[in-house]
Amino acid sequence: MRVYLDHNSTSPLRPEVRERWLALGGERLGNASSLHASGRRARALVDDARARVAAALGVHEEEIFFTSGATEANNLALLGSLRAAGTAPGLVLPRTEHSSVLGPARAWAEAGHPVAHVPCDALGELDPSELHAAVSRAPVGLVSISAANNETGAAPDLARLVAALPGARPRVHVDAVQALGRLPVRLAEWGADLATFSAHKLGGPPGVGVLWRRRGLALEPLCFGGGQELGLRPGTENVPAIAAAALAVELAVRTQPEEAPRLLALAHELWDELAAALPGARLLGPPLASKRRLPNTLCVLVPGTDGKVLVTRLDLAGLEVSAGSACASGSVEPSHVLLALGLARDAARSAVRLSLGWNTTREDCKRAASIFHDEFAALRAT
Ligand code: PMP
Repeated sequence: MRVYLDHNSTSPLRPEVRERWLALGGERLGNASSLHASGRRARALVDDARARVAAALGVHEEEIFFTSGATEANNLALLGSLRAAGTAPGLVLPRTEHSSVLGPARAWAEAGHPVAHVPCDALGELDPSELHAAVSRAPVGLVSISAANNETGAAPDLARLVAALPGARPRVHVDAVQALGRLPVRLAEWGADLATFSAHKLGGPPGVGVLWRRRGLALEPLCFGGGQELGLRPGTENVPAIAAAALAVELAVRTQPEEAPRLLALAHELWDELAAALPGARLLGPPLASKRRLPNTLCVLVPGTDGKVLVTRLDLAGLEVSAGSACASGSVEPSHVLLALGLARDAARSAVRLSLGWNTTREDCKRAASIFHDEFAALRAT
């Protein structure tokens, strides 16, 4: 039996979500903008999904926008709010953000606007005074910080960071893709104005993102067309996927209080076994006992190995994990996140990420540790 420990890349569909997705996919649904009965049924499903997501996140329905994924939601949050920001075109973000945040930030910088990247420490943690200094340097319209890093699992104290921002503070966008279902998501407590989520990281279908925009905040669309999603994200809605995504969000939020300690206990056991099996291995990011990390993520530095070679061997032996982030794999460049922690390029290339999820069992972890042990020993022998 294969073991899948790559939930930060994508999490398998939850059975209830799969059932809803397939059932609606088999229904004769109209275009949600059509006036006839099939169209009205589709519209009702999208409205229902919006209401469910809003209730799960504790926000208003009209604040929720469905997109094609968190990549699009992040682009819309950054570029859409900065274009609407008028006299404060500056953007501040940590160096360790996901490429779907760094990408629009680069585009914004290339368009001639001020963009500042805030460094982190060796554990991937941010210093509120660095953030404060970066925001004080130019008229900043937006600060974008992820609630949890997809590679290291580092999860900043957002409320503290936002509270430390100077006076008339800029708007705050939170990429909460990796946090939802794993940590409590408290948008009001964080002081967020915009937040993004992705269904496929929660056991929902791929291709559905959620952008939360605080009521009244100015946002310009990136795409133009019909009036769907209040004109902010035009295009015919993928109704079965949106309805299934809403169920995944509800389940993630509802199960989070029990899931987080369960995942953390498994992560502890797995790390103990890996540390014993891999001499010199080091856990990157905040320590497992820290409150400032995801409970499901183990980013492990295995000195003297090439992460991609190890991942390929593990895969052949039946264990699926990532070397750095999946979005960056395929490139030979070491992960920008691990370089930001201060690792040398070779060290950054020797990291392997294991991420647990809703269907991970203790048996999976035991088997993963044993495969790791065998493959590492075989690699060392070659
Ligand atoms: N942000 C983070 C932190 C992520 O981990 C990912 C997915 N790797 C994304 C954004 C992009 O999400 P999507 O795949 O839905 O575009």
